[in-house]
Amino acid sequence: MIICLFIFIFGIVWGSFYNVVVYRIPKNLPLVNDRSKCPTCNHTLQALDLVPVFSWIFLGQKCRYCKEKISWRYPLFELLTGFVFVGAYFYVTNVLGYNFNRSNEFLEGILQIIIYCSFFSMLYLTTIMDFEYMIVSLNVLGVTFAIQLIGFIVLYYPNLPNLKSHFVGLILGALIYLVIYLVSKAIYKQEAFGQGDVYLLAAIGFVVGRNHVIMIAMMSFFVALILVGIAAVLGKKFEMRKEVPFGPAMCITTIIIMIWGERILNLLGYH
Ligand SMILES: [Zn+2]
Repeated sequence: MIICLFIFIFGIVWGSFYNVVVYRIPKNLPLVNDRSKCPTCNHTLQALDLVPVFSWIFLGQKCRYCKEKISWRYPLFELLTGFVFVGAYFYVTNVLGYNFNRSNEFLEGILQIIIYCSFFSMLYLTTIMDFEYMIVSLNVLGVTFAIQLIGFIVLYYPNLPNLKSHFVGLILGALIYLVIYLVSKAIYKQEAFGQGDVYLLAAIGFVVGRNHVIMIAMMSFFVALILVGIAAVLGKKFEMRKEVPFGPAMCITTIIIMIWGERILNLLGYH
C-alpha cells in the first residue's frame, strides 16, 4: 500500500514532465534546456509555481505574474499520470502476480513496474497527442521502446532468447498494419490509414507479444467505430478516413486485451 501511494505521488510529479512533452513535441519545441515559462507572459516560473496539482489549486488557477488563467488540463494530466503509474503497479501485482512482500520478487517487480510505467505512459501520451494533434510521436515510441528493451534484457538475463517472443510480437504488429496500410493506400489513392499506426502496433506488439497483438489489431477497428459513435452522439463529427484518431482506439483496446485477453482467448477455445 505504501508502494502504491509512493508510485501515485511519483506519477503526479512525473506528469508535469508529460505536460511539457504533450505541449512541446507537436510544436517541435526542445524538451529540455529551457526553464518553464508562463505561455502568456513568458515569466520564468519558480519552484513554488511548479508544484504539481497544488500550485494550480493554491495559486487560484492563475499565473502568479500576469494573473492569466491556467488551464485545468495541467493538474488533470498530472493526476492522470498518477493513475497511469498506479495502473502499472496493479498490472504487475494483480495480472502478472508479483508479490512485493516476498523479497526475492521485489527487484524483479520494481523492474516490471518501470517497464509497464513506460508502456502505459506511451499509450497515454499517444492517446492525448493523437486525439488532439493527429500525430503519433516517434520520439515517444522510441524512448519508451528503449526503456522496455533494456528492462526486458535486465529481467531475462542471462536467458536472452526469451526476448524472441517480444520481437515476434513487434514484427507481427508492424506487418499486420503495414499490409492494411498498403492495401488501403492502393484502394483510396491516399493515406487512409496512418503510418504512425503501423509503428504504434509494432511498439505495442513488442510488449504484449504475438497472440495479443493479433487481437488488438482486429479489435481496434471495433473500438474506433464505438469512439466515432460516441463522438457523433456528443455532436462532434469526424470525416471518415481522414480524421478518425485511430491511435486512441488502439491504446484503449490494448488495455482491454492486457486485462481480459486471456479470458477472451479461453472463450474462443484457444486454450
Ligand atoms: Zn503569466
